[in-house]
Amino acid sequence: LPSPEPAYLGGLNEPQRLAVLTTEGPVLVLAGAGTGKTAALTARLAHLMATRRAWPSQILAVTFTNKAAREMKERIAHITGGAVEGMPWLGTFHSVAARMLRSHAELVGLQSNFTILDTDDQLRLLKQLIVAANLDEKRWPARQLSGLIDRWKNRGWIPKDIDAGESEAFANGRGGEFYQQYQDRLKALNACDFGDLLLHMLTIFRTQPDVLETYRERFRYILVDEYQDTNASQYDWLKLLAEPRRNLCCVGDDDQSIYSWRGAEVANILRFEKDFPGATVVRLEQNYRSTPHILGAASGLIANNSGRLGKTLWTETDVGEKVRVIGVWDGPEEARRVGDEIESWQRDGGSFNDTAILVRAQFQTREFEERFISVGLPYQIVGGFRFYERAEIRDALAYLRLVQSPADDLAFERIVNTPKRGLGDKAIATIHRLARAQGQPLLLAAAQMLDSDELTPQARRSLGRFVGDVARWREMLSRATPSDDRAPHPQLGAQARAAPHAELARLILEESGYTAMLQADRSAESAGRLENLAELARAMEEYESLSAFLEHVSLVMDNDADKSGEKVTVMTIHAAKGLEFPVVYLAGWEEGVFPSQRALDEGGLASLEEERRLAYVAITRARKRATIFHAANRRIYGQWTSSIPSRFVAELPKEHIDEETTMTGGESLWRAQWSERGDPFAHLASGASHRATTRGPGWQRAASSGNFNPQPQRVIEARASAISLGNKGRDDLALGQRVFHGKFGYGTIAGIEGNKLEIDFEHAGRKRVLDSFVSAG
Ligand code: ATP
Ligand code: MG
Repeated sequence: LPSPEPAYLGGLNEPQRLAVLTTEGPVLVLAGAGTGKTAALTARLAHLMATRRAWPSQILAVTFTNKAAREMKERIAHITGGAVEGMPWLGTFHSVAARMLRSHAELVGLQSNFTILDTDDQLRLLKQLIVAANLDEKRWPARQLSGLIDRWKNRGWIPKDIDAGESEAFANGRGGEFYQQYQDRLKALNACDFGDLLLHMLTIFRTQPDVLETYRERFRYILVDEYQDTNASQYDWLKLLAEPRRNLCCVGDDDQSIYSWRGAEVANILRFEKDFPGATVVRLEQNYRSTPHILGAASGLIANNSGRLGKTLWTETDVGEKVRVIGVWDGPEEARRVGDEIESWQRDGGSFNDTAILVRAQFQTREFEERFISVGLPYQIVGGFRFYERAEIRDALAYLRLVQSPADDLAFERIVNTPKRGLGDKAIATIHRLARAQGQPLLLAAAQMLDSDELTPQARRSLGRFVGDVARWREMLSRATPSDDRAPHPQLGAQARAAPHAELARLILEESGYTAMLQADRSAESAGRLENLAELARAMEEYESLSAFLEHVSLVMDNDADKSGEKVTVMTIHAAKGLEFPVVYLAGWEEGVFPSQRALDEGGLASLEEERRLAYVAITRARKRATIFHAANRRIYGQWTSSIPSRFVAELPKEHIDEETTMTGGESLWRAQWSERGDPFAHLASGASHRATTRGPGWQRAASSGNFNPQPQRVIEARASAISLGNKGRDDLALGQRVFHGKFGYGTIAGIEGNKLEIDFEHAGRKRVLDSFVSAG
């Protein structure tokens, strides 16, 4: 009797079986989205284990994200039903390489407990090197150097591989030199960056034949998902490992190559057949994921790209709905529409978990978050931070919390030296010590130190300014309570009538130097951060007071802690690779957003085609329903921009889409909507430029209103002392008494004023100190 077929083969079609059962020799699965590449790869893994062709530890499987690795592990456990002991090496290139490197770190001059730096650390290090070389960091930014070094690492190049031509890209030919210095620094710190994980292993493989041999011996089978997005260094790494046995199975789709900006090379697909001659090439053509309309729309779109390997896709699923293309007025309306649709999907029995919103760029998520927070729709941001978790938002909230309640020590700590005010760890520790000794909040302790010698004059000056500012903002806040007659606020001006606390927030960000700090940072992120802050102030306008707003935020943050429950997923298309959802909303299909302005400006045809592949990935995430949105107006980095639908919309075959626009009312509807918020399109009437700046970020207004001249230092200090009231002195100290002070040593009390002492120190001379820091000598 033939033995019954194992369950993991049961559901597979013929070509998928071929990919699973051809266990020996190279296999390349080249197929479109949703054709079951990942499913086949998973079944192959199960098959290798179930038939005991190898122990789990002798199989290496590479996925593109950690999430994908987790999912594959779950699927394997499910398929094998726990019948197989142990797990294969399963993870991303980085995680697998890190695991290996821990065992061989000494071969590249590291210890096995090396740390892995994140991007921030990496930039800080590079900046130090640039400054140490007496170069102007503005002219030669660390970010540029890090981009360059990443690129070299993606190609598998160590410093000695960098020739003069490559080196030319930074600081007049010193790029290679900096690369070397950076690597030396990392070594001294017993650290490496992300790119090093792979590069170090590659170096070890190339220089230590015995190590390479061990791994070649170990890994009998190697499997790779999302193969189209491997870069040169990953390819070399794979090739070195797989060469003798040639049991390498890669699955991918050239149409979904979307990481060329990170060094991925589609050409690796073509190289595969050359480097592994005789490879079995499997093509999967049946799509099991999407409806015919979704598939038709995606295929029609991608057909506009040149130089494709080309493939046929068909499906047997029910015909379903056409892809909807909806034109809306602006970003907020887009968010409203999507929110409404998701709510009605759920009312009709659908799950939030089935829905996803895919955006081209991270900044687009905010509009949705604001909407979902205000209507209480549960959501998660995958591969990024939620709005209120972002560093700049937390900083701004800390300012507001401190102004609202001076006893908020966590808020004080977060911002007392952000932006940098020259308050070092020592000064902060001194403030802490006093606060602890007196059982007082940090802000009050700080206020007390202003006219004592406990801190350096410089620290005192900047602390004085900070404490004085907080006092002044508090005073403004107390007068900013809305009243019925809504008289213009004396300091915040007429614009602040409706929401003085929002205007106050803008002002605080301006006056504290926070805005200036971000403006000075010319990185791409800082523009987004400024925009987020503007968005924060805008969100405040919807609450009647600062305390109401802060309470709202703490509730929202608290909800975040609830990780269970169903949620709408919001993420970038890049993060959605390989995933699928029954219902998908594709937001912001406008020229300049998608395709991105950067792709349009810089990249030429190659970037445009990569954007189109991204659009293809986006549509093919949908199983049952795909809805594309484009807005006529969008605010990008604080500027309202009128926009036209993406060219990708026009490329969708008409027979697969339903177009709808909500702007049927024509101009009257525009006007009605804009009467509420001022007309950002005055420029259209005057025939001015395409990009209109009619509602700049709030801080620009505050800064130019002229109401906020910096106050003289004396006034600030007087205000500051108003914060520190009623400090009774110690009754165990008396004039003429000998005392000891931790910083100034022994001395004699020459004067007492509340809790402040004048002391003649034996070595430091006369100083003013606080009694908490003094002990009876
Ligand atoms: P992508 O290119 O987006 O990564 P993919 O080719 O990896 O897609 P999978 O994610 O493996 O595709 O499969 C897509 C969907 O089709 C999944 O829901 C999967 O369970 C289902 N599927 C795969 N193969 C089959 C099959 N033979 N019969 C029925 N359903 C299948
Ligand atoms: Mg897949």
